[in-house]
Amino acid sequence: MAVRAPFQIGTHEIKAGRRAHVELPVSRLITGEQMSMPVTVFHGKEDGPTVWINAAIHGDELNGVEIVNQVMAALDPKAMHGTLLAVPVVNIHGFITGDRYLPDRRDLNRSFPGSAKGSLASRLANLFMTEVVSKCEVGIDLHTAGNNRTNLPQIRANLDDARTRELSEVFGARLILHAKNRSGTLRSSGTKAGAAVLLYEAGEPMRFNNYAIDAGVAGVGRVLAHLGMADFDGPPPDVVPSSRSSRWVRASRSGVIRLDVEIGDMVEAKQEMGTIIDAFGKRLSTIRASRSGLVIGRTMYPLSNQGDALVHIATLEDPTKVTDG
Ligand SMILES: [Zn+2]
Repeated sequence: MAVRAPFQIGTHEIKAGRRAHVELPVSRLITGEQMSMPVTVFHGKEDGPTVWINAAIHGDELNGVEIVNQVMAALDPKAMHGTLLAVPVVNIHGFITGDRYLPDRRDLNRSFPGSAKGSLASRLANLFMTEVVSKCEVGIDLHTAGNNRTNLPQIRANLDDARTRELSEVFGARLILHAKNRSGTLRSSGTKAGAAVLLYEAGEPMRFNNYAIDAGVAGVGRVLAHLGMADFDGPPPDVVPSSRSSRWVRASRSGVIRLDVEIGDMVEAKQEMGTIIDAFGKRLSTIRASRSGLVIGRTMYPLSNQGDALVHIATLEDPTKVTDG
């Protein structure tokens, strides 16, 4: 049988059946050190699809970094079909400083597909597109909630694309949320480049949340197994409910927030979800659900200004599929 051709990335060439750690140069720090984006290539011994997994497009979103590292530890390229490009940290500048953004204050996830001569964010996006995304038919982009919030483990993807929907169901998070492609995102540019892209959202920034990490490792493992790339020993996915509509309940008053709902709770329209008091305990307002559905995100910060987002509720297409996970 013919030996599988080596995999090319940057100036590197990786032989079939090998794992290789590759550093792709990004830019120099002001002090002169070379900053590079590390990519670990698992070039399976046998033919199969090429897939990427990445985390920390936002530098403070750490659950995905641990997910990628745990997935990598379980893989053996000698027993694999296809090729996996694993990138634990894309926004390396933000990762070092615990910052969502790049030093130029740009959001990397609004800078795709980028360009070789653009801003720092744009150059990094371009490098990731050229060396990773353009070589792949499937991608998984790992995120957490934004500052002071948490998210129920969920996949955001284009459910109108049959393959993307199939892989989302195989991943098996607690919810699949239909999300249109937003310009400038990795998901949008990856889709345009021909890949099926899943975005996993789970837990808080700046933290390791074990429930979010465990669900992510299992989800990625199931997708790789489904694609015939590697074995996965864990359980099959739960049947996952889906949603095409979600909305944040916002603070009607400024004050101290007492929330009685957690991510994963089902709520009924108008249900009391908490209260807003002033700093001295006087009751100002009741927080009520704006719709029936699943709580997929919430603030973790007990102070809020009028208009701040408090509880994120998704209307389910199939509420009977909800699991306690
Ligand atoms: Zn993010």
